[in-house]
Amino acid sequence: MRPSILDPLFAAVTTLDGVGPKVATQFQTLLAGAGETVRVRDLLFHLPSGLIDRRKRAEIALAPEGSIVTLTVRVDRHQAPGRAQRSVPYKVFAQDETGEIALTYFRGQSGWLEKLLPVGETMIVSGRVEWFNGRPSMVHPDFVAPLAEAETLTLVEPVYPMTAGLSPKILRKAITQALERLPELGEWIDPGVMRRESFAAFGASLRGLHDPADAIDLAPEGPGYRRLAYDEFLASQLALALSRQRMKASRGRAMPGTGESSRRVVAALPFTLTDGQDQAVAEIRADMASGERMLRLLQGDVGAGKTVVALMAMATAAESGAQSVLLAPTEILARQHHDGLSRLCEVAGFSLTLLTGRDTGRTRAEKLDAIATGRTQIVVGTHAVFQEAVAYHDLGLVVVDEQHRFGVHQRLSLTRKGASPDLLVMTATPIPRTLVLAAFGDMDVSRLTGKPAGRKPITTVAVPMERLDEIIARAGKAMEAGERLYWVCPLVEESEKSDLMAAEERFRQLSQLFGSAVGLVHGRMSGEEKDRAMADFKAGRTKLVVATTVIEVGVDVPDATIIVIEHAERFGLSQLHQLRGRVGRGAKPSSCVLLYRAPLGETAAARLAVMRDTEDGFRIAEEDLKLRGEGDLLGTQQSGAPFFRIARMEHHADLMEVARDDARLVLATDPELTTPRGECLRALLYLFGKDEAVRLLRSG
Ligand code: ADP
Ligand code: MG
Repeated sequence: MRPSILDPLFAAVTTLDGVGPKVATQFQTLLAGAGETVRVRDLLFHLPSGLIDRRKRAEIALAPEGSIVTLTVRVDRHQAPGRAQRSVPYKVFAQDETGEIALTYFRGQSGWLEKLLPVGETMIVSGRVEWFNGRPSMVHPDFVAPLAEAETLTLVEPVYPMTAGLSPKILRKAITQALERLPELGEWIDPGVMRRESFAAFGASLRGLHDPADAIDLAPEGPGYRRLAYDEFLASQLALALSRQRMKASRGRAMPGTGESSRRVVAALPFTLTDGQDQAVAEIRADMASGERMLRLLQGDVGAGKTVVALMAMATAAESGAQSVLLAPTEILARQHHDGLSRLCEVAGFSLTLLTGRDTGRTRAEKLDAIATGRTQIVVGTHAVFQEAVAYHDLGLVVVDEQHRFGVHQRLSLTRKGASPDLLVMTATPIPRTLVLAAFGDMDVSRLTGKPAGRKPITTVAVPMERLDEIIARAGKAMEAGERLYWVCPLVEESEKSDLMAAEERFRQLSQLFGSAVGLVHGRMSGEEKDRAMADFKAGRTKLVVATTVIEVGVDVPDATIIVIEHAERFGLSQLHQLRGRVGRGAKPSSCVLLYRAPLGETAAARLAVMRDTEDGFRIAEEDLKLRGEGDLLGTQQSGAPFFRIARMEHHADLMEVARDDARLVLATDPELTTPRGECLRALLYLFGKDEAVRLLRSG
């Protein structure tokens, strides 16, 4: 139950003066999703994006066009329009030593204006100055006051992000009322953190942001903003820690394995495991052997060799008599995993089933039966493996490959099929530590740093589109020399269709030059067609494959050594990195050609420079974060909802780990949030909409 002290903040905005249905709808557009009730709290969390500083006094002749200034003027004369001239504004002329300005009022009433701006009086007026034909005017000044009142005026006003039709005054008035409703809340932040960060109380911080005395009060680096960002992080980390606590409490099973089939897998590998892989396998085994549930994230750059680590985990599960699922984001990848793993599984002595949406009729029924009876130990597939109809005999381990394609929210629902299966999430997007925390919370992390031995670096060059012919000629030479190439075509527009056109056009052109050595794979092809095209390329029947970004994730053709990316300036950094990771997987030196259309924008130029500079996926991810902000990295951009409503990763990332540690410490000593501080933390969870997390508490 939500503490009743919070009730005023959770009242609908329509309970505020001046907020009727129309304004409420505008607030909804501005502050909430469709169908959600906008609450007083949402207004409080709607922070100013800047401020108007009226302290700057200007002289009329020097007032810059379009800027907001405060003038001290003497009212000279009124000029009312004639009775029939409704569209002509009422003008009040006023002056200072430097010149004259027209204060302009449309449909101004003379009685009211004569009182407001008495002729002969010295007044302060503030508003936006516009120059027209060499004459300055101020349309509907924001405020007008006698000089005597100058001291008491609010000269600094916050500016809020707005939506069409909403008046700033109405918003401001609503926020002021919301602040009045803010109850005195007990402090939920650890006293040590409060002191170290010079935080003020929650209420005082909010008031400071909505009522800034200076630009510095609004700065994301300032204590007020930081405090609220920290509150948000703490709420989210506490919620994640609570769900982790619950998952861990639902006893997993001990799957110690025997080591027998794993040993056979290792013996059958054409290479030895890297130290990083050994280490990751050991960490995973230890998790699996314990009775606690495994929640582990395996981070490894493209080509780092995550698949074999997953296989070792699945072998361990099989040795313990349990089934595993390896979930891939696309059919191509599921098939590739299946093909790559089948020989090793055979050697190790367990059966493998590929299950995708393409299986129908008899084959599907047979596969489902093998899964339900436990005849198959490892299931590889797309999300089809979690459909209603798929029943497992005894699912012990779920491995999710290239997780970022699935979206953060689906993660937990994936483990519903088993009693409480261990979970291993593998991601090739080398998300920076802070984002791992934000997205996954306190998952245990294994990192595969470095690439398997013997890998050659990839030479990356950026080449303007004008040199396309030259690049095509070089591609031809490379094919003659037996090299294999990817040719990635651009996102012309957001639409898949134009994407396709570009790829098809390039395919036609290259086919004319190089004949049947050229293949094509794109998202609109059927699964079988895609497979065939990729198989042809893998086997060397085609030497060059023109592709849309369907090849982005995970596709493994070790013999491919060159990747050409057209319109590289249109791709995000992590996408470029993923694409480049398609080459450099074998022993031969590889190269990546970034074809771009000049002139490059600043960000695009920065991205290409980073690509030329480094192959280190973790560094690239950090740079990407700087260039794009967190939304894109986590794939939340499409949904339009920012990951955090207040906190901004580029400014507040350092607070994330503090919040994580604090959340962890709290639950270690007060797992049910029943101490006085625990009670305050419950309020925090509600404030930031983490009601779900509170429900995980015994007395939630
Ligand atoms: P990713 O981490 O991107 O999923 P993969 O698991 O697809 O990487 O591995 C990329 C390639 O590297 C595969 O061809 C795989 O067989 C190979 N590989 C994996 N581990 C090693 C190793 N220790 N030594 C050499 N090659 C390896
Ligand atoms: Mg992979």
